[in-house]
Amino acid sequence: MKLSLTAAHAALAISLLVGALPPVHAQTAAPATAPAAPESGGPVDPAKIQELVIANHVLTDLNVIDGFGHISMRHPGNPNRYLLSRSVAPALVTADDIMEYDLASNPVDAKGRNSFFERYIHGEIYKARPDVMAVIHTHSLGVIPFGIGGVPLRPVFLLGAFLSPSVPVFDIRKAAGQTNMLVGTPDLGKSLASTLGSRSVALLRGHGSVVVASTVPMAVFRAYYSNVNASLQSQAMALGGKVNYMEPEESQKTLATIENIHGRAWDLWKRAALEKMTAK
Ligand SMILES: [Zn+2]
Repeated sequence: MKLSLTAAHAALAISLLVGALPPVHAQTAAPATAPAAPESGGPVDPAKIQELVIANHVLTDLNVIDGFGHISMRHPGNPNRYLLSRSVAPALVTADDIMEYDLASNPVDAKGRNSFFERYIHGEIYKARPDVMAVIHTHSLGVIPFGIGGVPLRPVFLLGAFLSPSVPVFDIRKAAGQTNMLVGTPDLGKSLASTLGSRSVALLRGHGSVVVASTVPMAVFRAYYSNVNASLQSQAMALGGKVNYMEPEESQKTLATIENIHGRAWDLWKRAALEKMTAK
């Protein structure tokens, strides 16, 4: 093939080449290394860390998550950092397992600890949703049928009002074709966050769910009652006949009540979890 190169093209090519080369002194600098770890967002109140640890145990006790699944919280002192345990079963999480990440999901100081493959779920949702302070990812069996069938998950009783009007489904095949189903890249996390939009819950087809809230206890509440609502909706549908869902206006009016009373459930779950944790 005959190449045709004008003087302008040649000048541009040379300038790009020169521009791409580092200065002579830089060529003799230290060899390339991995990018520097992000700086810490600062110390965190140990009580907040403990709340995150307890939430891991509560979610296990409530059968919302088992050996898989994770919960994070945004760093209380820096909105561009979040806290998430190392890759470990939630029932085994202690304060020493809690790691700090930037919103690109790079660990601040891994200390040899492994990270969750799907941590991008958390980082990308925190980027997209400044109002969100806690994120839960579950593989909850109860909600999965609503991510693979044609029936949307909708509120059928008052404590599921946050599901209104219905729960969107993230289909990873539409986002990225054939995959291993895991949200293991920033792009997939971003796509999931886009499906979630301004909602509190999104389902992942054939996989599980994500649940978000402005506090850790509220996120736990929503994750648990997503499962309960799914179970009740399944039962109502199995009975046959038309299901009488909550109206959006009813759900809206119920949300304020939930906001006021959800702490009662959290206090109970927390006490039970602490008793089990201290008995170990
Ligand atoms: Zn998962």
